[in-house]
Amino acid sequence: MDLPFEPYRIKVVERIRRVSRPERARLLETAGYNVFKIPSASIYIDLLTDSGTSAMSDLQWAALMRGDEAYAQSRSFAEFEGVVKEIFGYRHVIPTHQGRAAEGLLFATRVKAGDVVPSNIHFDTTRANVEHLGAIALDCVADAGLDPHLEAPFKGDMSLDKLRDAFTKYGRERIPVVMLTITNNSGGGQPVSMANIREVSAFCREMDVPLIFDACRFAENAWFIQQREEGWSGRGIEDICREMFSCADGCTMSAKKDALVNIGGFVCLNDDEWARDLTNLLILREGFPTYGGLAGRDLAAMAQGLREVMDPDYLAYRIGQVARLGRRLDELEVPYLRPAGGHAIYVDALAALPHLPREQFPAQVFTAALYLEGGVRAVEIGSLMFDHKDPDTGQMVHPAMELVRLAVPRRVYTHTQLDYVAEVCAAVMRKGRNWRGLEITWQPSALRHFTASLRPVGGGTFEAGDQG
Ligand SMILES: *Cc1c(COP(=O)(O)O)cnc(C)c1O
Repeated sequence: MDLPFEPYRIKVVERIRRVSRPERARLLETAGYNVFKIPSASIYIDLLTDSGTSAMSDLQWAALMRGDEAYAQSRSFAEFEGVVKEIFGYRHVIPTHQGRAAEGLLFATRVKAGDVVPSNIHFDTTRANVEHLGAIALDCVADAGLDPHLEAPFKGDMSLDKLRDAFTKYGRERIPVVMLTITNNSGGGQPVSMANIREVSAFCREMDVPLIFDACRFAENAWFIQQREEGWSGRGIEDICREMFSCADGCTMSAKKDALVNIGGFVCLNDDEWARDLTNLLILREGFPTYGGLAGRDLAAMAQGLREVMDPDYLAYRIGQVARLGRRLDELEVPYLRPAGGHAIYVDALAALPHLPREQFPAQVFTAALYLEGGVRAVEIGSLMFDHKDPDTGQMVHPAMELVRLAVPRRVYTHTQLDYVAEVCAAVMRKGRNWRGLEITWQPSALRHFTASLRPVGGGTFEAGDQG
């Protein structure tokens, strides 16, 4: 039997309910066809994000109770620091309240206006933190990572040619740090191979520029290396992590992903001076260096979560569950970005709803239809999120793809519930041309996808023939 077996049993449950279709139609209209504005109590399966949505284990809940809330040098910090040093192997471990705070501190102490920071693909928050300092966030992912139909094992790999070109074009002095996102969230949750990590690392060392991982999903990346990369199949996850991290000079981490907690983050660094500068800024913005904007109990839960995420049974189940959702969608002929990512499936809305022009937000239509059809919440990653004016021509530019991300929270939903999600996706597709396009009625000046309001083009019902 080829099932992603759950390496746990359920000890506490939380009631969820499926509100009626007329109620969903009313809520969707009130929310301006924007699922960010629908109350979570009226959502049946919530796949908006895998960030901070993990279910904690009994041992993590127990760790919360044992948290030491001393302001300085708490026992919980010592435990957290010990676990991080064991897995990551860096000299300095600096807690922050979440990932973006770690990035903000890292860049503020190293990057200045006019600098350039290459990555495979910057996540929104690393990009925003780099740009906030007046620097350029440069994506250097290999071309394979930009082709949604290509089946390849390591589509998160960075292109060494693009990285070299960046050094030639901008000069070594303008590149204070190179980032590598493992796994590559904005590129479909695709992993980076050990071979590529080593190549990028060797190049950075030759250039004498530090390499820093955006390590949110490091354990998922290690699992992909173990499963897919030649020479690593017999090696343990701990071994693979140690080898990965030894190739870099530090990392930023959102503990809301692979530390299996609801809030938290940290920075690791080897360089003493950089760590000292960063710690000084941390005290100003986040708190004393042994709690960094968190409670002692949060550090204790993180330490335990990091131990649990290394369990190969957990990783096989976790990534197997996402892959299984992909296989269900294959059976139902729902098109998605290939292959399935570590933490999410990205439905290809242009292929699913080909009757809709880009101006009518096909991925947002699919997202709204998922809610109306089955109470499922996903997130649009398409024109609503990424349309922008070309600075040279003033023309509106659409992103390369119209995607609907189904992000799977860790240890939260059963296989049955994800089967249901696949059925809802198929039902939305079957209704095809019945779904009407959407138009914006209100939008803010930036990051509009969070708060914009929309309506069916020209008014009326969202689904043709629907009596409302
Ligand atoms: C979530 C995420 C971040 C930011 O972390 P927060 O905890 O949400 O601030 C940074 N990089 C990647 C790749 C992420 O997935």
